[in-house]
Amino acid sequence: ATPTALMVGTGRGAQLGILIKGPEVLESTRRVDTIVLDKTGTVTTGTMTLLDVIADAGEDPDEIVRLAGALEDASEHPIARAIAAGAVGRVGTLPSVEDFANVEGLGVQGVVDGHAVLVGRARLLTDWSQHLPSELAQAMVEAENSGRTAVAVGWDGVARGVLVVADAIKPTSAEAITRFRGLGLKPVLLTGDNAAVARTVAAEVGIDEDAVIAEVLPKDKVDAVRRLQDDGRVVAMVGDGVNDAAALAQADLGLAMGTGTDVAIEASDLTLVRGDLRVAADAIRLSRRTLATIK
Ligand code: ADP
Ligand code: MG
Repeated sequence: ATPTALMVGTGRGAQLGILIKGPEVLESTRRVDTIVLDKTGTVTTGTMTLLDVIADAGEDPDEIVRLAGALEDASEHPIARAIAAGAVGRVGTLPSVEDFANVEGLGVQGVVDGHAVLVGRARLLTDWSQHLPSELAQAMVEAENSGRTAVAVGWDGVARGVLVVADAIKPTSAEAITRFRGLGLKPVLLTGDNAAVARTVAAEVGIDEDAVIAEVLPKDKVDAVRRLQDDGRVVAMVGDGVNDAAALAQADLGLAMGTGTDVAIEASDLTLVRGDLRVAADAIRLSRRTLATIK
């Protein structure tokens, strides 16, 4: 009866929109007591829009949008998609980029119209000695306190402005968190984004403030999972991005959003086809029930 029960379990999974890598995956669902959730693209839609442009005194906001938009056009990051789309809407055709590079967890850099442009966290700019005037630093803090994401823009050695983008929380996320708790799982939010944004999102979906791990560089996400495991927790992790792949592989149970990147899907045990976080709870409940049928 064992193989039949497993086939029923995985067949039902496919109906619900869950792809299971192999039957051995089910076993780890039994002991899982913690569920680590990536923020961007997992709890939130990952689709941001450009809301605001704050130019430093004497700077042209359209030029900030134009150069930042051109640079971000070369990046796949959700913040980048918002800025590039917003820029096209605002200034039309964007110039091309040379020497584009991603700076892991911090932002992007490249040359646009002969200017060496940086877009990203304040730290990306200060690392290049482009110190933010207090008005811009203040604008970033205010945006972030209200749960939005602010990135700084600078070129040719000078910080020029701040772009504010916002990412919507998926309408299904709060319900998913309730379901996780119903299964006895402690939800944890893990993100590279800043602590204020992370706390606002956590509060909106019902994740405890002490269960927010923010400002984690992509390469450190795997360590955050390992630390929870060292504390004796059995960890499921849900993620969507390239930056989640190592953590998904490290987790006792890795779940990828089917709407996410192939790298995340390959690193995970289960794929949630429609990117609906509630299905992660369904997946865990289904595999536990399938196991109960087998034993
Ligand atoms: P998350 O874990 O939330 O998906 P990442 O590790 O990808 O976040 O990024 C961390 C932070 O680095 C972002 O919140 C943003 O401030 C900055 N950043 C990363 N990539 C970009 C980009 N292409 N443009 C602007 N900022 C970026
Ligand atoms: Mg992500």
